[in-house]
Amino acid sequence: MRWWLRYKKIIEKNILGTAKPEIKDLSYWRNRLFTNFIIFLLPISLVALIPGVFMSVKGNIPLLAVFDICMFFSFNLIAFIPKLDLFIRKVLATVMLYLLAIGLLVFLGSFGPGLLYLLAITVFITLIFPVPVAYWSIGINITISILFALIIHFKLLNSPLTQLYHLGSWIAVSSNLIFLSIFCVVLLDTIGKGLQATILKEALLQKQLQHESKKLEQMVETLKHKNQELEQFAYIASHDLQEPLRTTTALVENLEKQYKGRLDDTADLYLNFLSQASTRMRTLITGLLEYSHIGKEKQRSLVNCNTLVKETISDLDASIKESKASIITDNLPQLPAYPLELKQVFQNLLSNALKFRQKNVRPQIKITAIRETDYWTFSIIDNGIGIEERFREKIFAIFQRLHPKSQYDGTGIGLAHCRKIIELHGGKIWVETNPNGGSIFRFKLPVTYLT
Ligand code: ADP
Repeated sequence: MRWWLRYKKIIEKNILGTAKPEIKDLSYWRNRLFTNFIIFLLPISLVALIPGVFMSVKGNIPLLAVFDICMFFSFNLIAFIPKLDLFIRKVLATVMLYLLAIGLLVFLGSFGPGLLYLLAITVFITLIFPVPVAYWSIGINITISILFALIIHFKLLNSPLTQLYHLGSWIAVSSNLIFLSIFCVVLLDTIGKGLQATILKEALLQKQLQHESKKLEQMVETLKHKNQELEQFAYIASHDLQEPLRTTTALVENLEKQYKGRLDDTADLYLNFLSQASTRMRTLITGLLEYSHIGKEKQRSLVNCNTLVKETISDLDASIKESKASIITDNLPQLPAYPLELKQVFQNLLSNALKFRQKNVRPQIKITAIRETDYWTFSIIDNGIGIEERFREKIFAIFQRLHPKSQYDGTGIGLAHCRKIIELHGGKIWVETNPNGGSIFRFKLPVTYLT
């Protein structure tokens, strides 16, 4: 089949050229159709030529044999002449086909397929040329029919055509041909218009899609850049603030040590406020620094979440005992993760579940994990104070808290940490309401490594 592929390639290159075609409208398919017509016509007509020539010679019509051979070579020229405009190739092929149909009518009359050829040419023209040209073929068929009617009536030719037909039968046959030609052109025209509209619509959609995805890509790039800038800013700000803060805290400590109790009550109170404020500022800035550090020196490995959660529970032992909490853990999976960061997620979520408990209610916490196709979904279920629906997004932003410090201690950094860590893993974190009271924090992590 290698020779067939080579032959196809040569004709395609000759007719369609080497440029990568763009499917802008129906003309692409019209050109392809014409190319395929030529590709298949040559070998098929070669096969048909042998019995055709044999029968013509045997039937004592040698002129028909010469005519057939000339036709075959003409089509070869149309296929193989290089640098000929595609439209001219199409016109030449159509003229050849008309000549063939006329020849068959002249040489064979009603025995031959001449009339059938005329109808087939109309279909062919409708398929390979734009629609107005197709309507011309009806005109050509009418002209040929009138011409042959005159030839038959005036017996201008001594051929089977004039011998086998008389004017009445020719008019009956040729009017059927014209009727069928109109029918074919109108129907194919409808299909063509429909296809053209679909192709144009699709091309427009594709262009819009390309435009949108380009815009999206640019937006993602800008967002990435802005995010990097922000992280850099947070890092630099928190890092550079550490030094003056250390100095302030040390000075406040010294002040407290040396002057507490030696001044009046108001001064003592102010000193106390100062000390508390500097400690809190230190906690906040350390949190911010840690936040901007997440994912900087990442090391991913296969993590056993059972071990991770056990360690976390042991770290939180004091507050678990103090609140008399019960923590139930399902069998948890082993998955690729950043161990230190993932442990921090469990730590934040568990300590929140312990911290935001209802008054006089023993905290009951459950940790579960369910496998979906590509993800493990973890749930930390508590029976605490719950979270109103309108705050479910807000709480994941840095420094966002729903309660005053006097009610529940904290910095508002924990959940922001969690979100950043989970997203670093290619996962997602969110919160739902526990139907039995309290909250359910869920996060999903990919089963395999995501690059
Ligand atoms: P922090 O715990 O330091 O306040 P977080 O970022 O961990 O900061 O949490 C942000 C806020 O989300 C909390 O202040 C609290 O209002 C709410 N929250 C977090 N976890 C829970 C929970 N398990 N139940 C109820 N509210 C919660």
